[in-house]
Amino acid sequence: QRLDLGARFGTAELPEMGTIDMRDEAIESAHWIGPTLVKEVLARVAEGQQAMLFLNRRGYAPVTICRACGHQIGCDHCDARMVEHRFLKRLVCHQCGETKPIPVKCPSCEVEGKLAPVGPGVERLAEEVAEHFPKARLAVLSSDLFGSARALKEKIAEIAQGEADIIIGTQIVAKGHNFPRLTLVGVIDADLGLQGSDLRAAEKTFQLMRQVAGRAGRAEEKGAALLQTYQPEHPVIRAILGGDEEAFWAQEAAARQAQGVPPYGRMAGIILSGPDLQPLFEVGNHLARNDAALRRIGAQVFGPAPAPIARVRGRHRVRLLVKAEKSAPLQGALKAWLKGLKLPTNARLAVDIDPQSFL
Ligand SMILES: [Zn+2]
Ligand SMILES: [Zn+2]
Repeated sequence: QRLDLGARFGTAELPEMGTIDMRDEAIESAHWIGPTLVKEVLARVAEGQQAMLFLNRRGYAPVTICRACGHQIGCDHCDARMVEHRFLKRLVCHQCGETKPIPVKCPSCEVEGKLAPVGPGVERLAEEVAEHFPKARLAVLSSDLFGSARALKEKIAEIAQGEADIIIGTQIVAKGHNFPRLTLVGVIDADLGLQGSDLRAAEKTFQLMRQVAGRAGRAEEKGAALLQTYQPEHPVIRAILGGDEEAFWAQEAAARQAQGVPPYGRMAGIILSGPDLQPLFEVGNHLARNDAALRRIGAQVFGPAPAPIARVRGRHRVRLLVKAEKSAPLQGALKAWLKGLKLPTNARLAVDIDPQSFL
């Protein structure tokens, strides 16, 4: 049963939403807050109001690169780059949690002092904010900066009482907190969620941006939300601005229906994982060739191919995708298809029906 919540809580109105076209912003290298947003933040802070800057990236910098040889520091166990966390003084793998100290020498060419951070995380953004607004009081909210849920809750209560002028936060600021003095939300990189192969990317970005924007102007004061973007004409960005949720969902639904993907069709992800790649592909190819059980229900199999995250914790990952019509008896067909399958030593097979994530 569908219930519509037709009004926002309290007296607040929806914030005014707008984009800042980053192609027109004169921005220094290794900086991410454009002059327009700087000006808007200054105006709010001067009025004794709060501004929030949102960047959905933990840590200091997503990539550490060697300026001598171009090497990027990766996790030893995963197909992922290590993220610098300056607060922890370590590099962290966001896939497996492995950490290591930031090396002095490049692990590839052994040249010293050439490793440099590339791209922003919230910790680096905080440095830039301090540079632009030296007198403002800053609060950084990121899940890994607080030892306990209680510490985080206390910080949030302080902010709500006005003990910060500028709040810098990751996804944890998107939900539920009520900051009565907050009248401006600036999204540093609205394009971040639009990349990638996830069929839910548009839906997730739409929801997250609307949620974050909704933090502004929850009390008596009218709020504004500004999205920094390099593609202001992107249909998802347009939908976020337009705020017509019905239209967005209808459009998204039509696209999914046309492609026969969830919720209008069914999908199953088959992940084969193991220490050696070759035997995984052999099993994958064997499955792709012997697909009679799937064909009987009209389902198709795609792959094998390396999974989007091709290695985690030292294990290679190979993926097959099965696509079927909504009414097809997928579960039974998968069972028949995989029955009697012999896996190589130490290999595992995982089946995820209508997966929430395609990584
Ligand atoms: Zn190097
Ligand atoms: Zn890792």
